[in-house]
Formats: sequence, C-alpha cells, structure tokens
Amino acid sequence: MLSETTRKRLKESHAKRILLQFPEGLKTRCQAIADELTKEGYEVLIACEPNFGACDLRDQDALDLGCDVLLHIGHTAFGVQEKLPVIYEPYYIDKKLSLEKHLDALKPYRTIGLTSSVQFVAALEPAAVFLEQHGKTVTVLEPMLGCRPPKTAVDCYVFIGSGMFHPLGLAKAVDQPVFFLDVERNTLEDLTPQKTKQEKIRWASIAKAQDATNFGILVTTKPGQRSARAFAIKKELEAKEKKAWVLVFDQATPDKIAGLKLDALVNTMCPRLNEDTALFKKPILNPDDIDKL
Ligand code: SF4
Repeated sequence: MLSETTRKRLKESHAKRILLQFPEGLKTRCQAIADELTKEGYEVLIACEPNFGACDLRDQDALDLGCDVLLHIGHTAFGVQEKLPVIYEPYYIDKKLSLEKHLDALKPYRTIGLTSSVQFVAALEPAAVFLEQHGKTVTVLEPMLGCRPPKTAVDCYVFIGSGMFHPLGLAKAVDQPVFFLDVERNTLEDLTPQKTKQEKIRWASIAKAQDATNFGILVTTKPGQRSARAFAIKKELEAKEKKAWVLVFDQATPDKIAGLKLDALVNTMCPRLNEDTALFKKPILNPDDIDKL
C-alpha cells in the first residue's frame, strides 16, 4: 500500500503514466503497487534494472518512455538533479528490539552514536531511550547511505538494521568501533574484524596493481554515481607508464569486460565497488589510491 502522502502528490501531479522503481529487496511488492495504481487509472511501467540506491535514478528512462512521474520506492533523495518530477516513497520497517542482552558488549563505551538505514529509522528513538536509561549518552544520527556515513565524536557507533552493507560502510569510514545490531537475528557484532579484512583487501589490491600494465577506468551512466575524473585518472596512470582505457557501464559486471585485456581496474562509480575485487578477479582501486602505485 502506498502512503497517503504519495497518493496525494501523484494526484496533484496530474500524471497519466508512471515509471515505478524499486530496490532489489522490495521487488516482490512491485506488482501489487502497480495494480493499485492501475486501478486508480494510471498507466504503470515497472523498471526492472537492478537498483541499489537513489543514486541510480531512472529519470531519463521515465522521460524516454513518456512518463510524467518517476515513483522511486525505498530510498530518499540522493541529491541527483532530476529531469522530471520524482516522488520518493521510503519504506519503513518497525521492529521491536530487545537490547538487554547486548549491554555487556557495550559496557566499555560511555557515548554512543546510533544510526540505521532509512528503513529502520523508527527503531532509533526507542533504542536511544533504553541505552540512556542504562547510563549511556546517546547521539541519534541521520539514517545513512552506504557511501555517506554520519560521523560524530562518540566512543562507539551502533548501527541498527539488516544486512552488512551499510554498517560495514560505516566501519570503514570511522575510527571508532562499530557494532551491527542485526534486527533479524537480534545479534550485536563488533565489525572491527571485517574492517581489518577490507583494509587487507585494499592494500593487496594496491600491491597487485603496482605490477599491472593495463588498467580499465570504470565509469557509469547512473546519474548519482557519475564522475568527471576519468581522464585525469588516465593521465595520472599514463604518467606512471601504465596503459588505461575509460570503460562506460550502467552496472559494471565481470562478464562485460571478459574479452578485454586488463590487469587492474580503477573505480569512479559507487565507491563500494572495490569490495567486489574477488568477483572481478582483478584488483580494483578507488581513485585516491592511485598515488600509492
Ligand atoms: S553506496 Fe553506492 S549504491 Fe549506495 S547510495 Fe552510495 S553510490 Fe549509491
């Protein structure tokens, strides 16, 4: 069911045709919502390309398909310059948490930064109240994106949510310990070992790339992940006597570069792509690591 706010905004937009865009985890709901809108008289198209964030807004597709509105479910605005009206319908999950059994693990920390992904934002306030009743000073932070973690001066962070993507992004970005409170399993996990593993992968990629000759510079057409740095990176690599090609994708996958002779990749797309080094079977560097070659 769509929220009343979204229904009202759709009505006010006088849209006739709508492109619906869903993140992967919510695709099971897309037909029900399409049916709901069709009954109300709209023509509805469902965008089926994989979606992992509002950085990947399909506004140009919506325009090309003659839509009046893009209805983007599950994320909030990312700051992309929109080419037609976009309505964001966040998807909230209200989970009751039992924090009692996690107090021991949090004993060494007096101040805690609490955050979540947007879906679990309702869990933050009750968790903050509980922790404060047990002697902690809690800062409730904005819900985070995988590449925009909130930072503050606290002894540790607790991320409330489901799936490792967001809390790992936080752990990689901050100096303090990050605990992942998994709402599905009601477990609390210190992510320091995962962070260390990611750092090792990053340094191993840099070491391998030092011996590499042929580099692919990955560029995407996704509006919120575009970067203007590709040719500057190419120059930088060539100055180090490497060869480099600028490769353009919507979504980068190993099969799309299977026929190319490449020893290493430089990623200008989603900054978390370098976690897929094993999938690509090649070192993937982020642009800031090139000066280490
Ligand atoms: S982490 Fe990647 S997919 Fe997620 S919002 Fe950032 S750029 Fe988009």
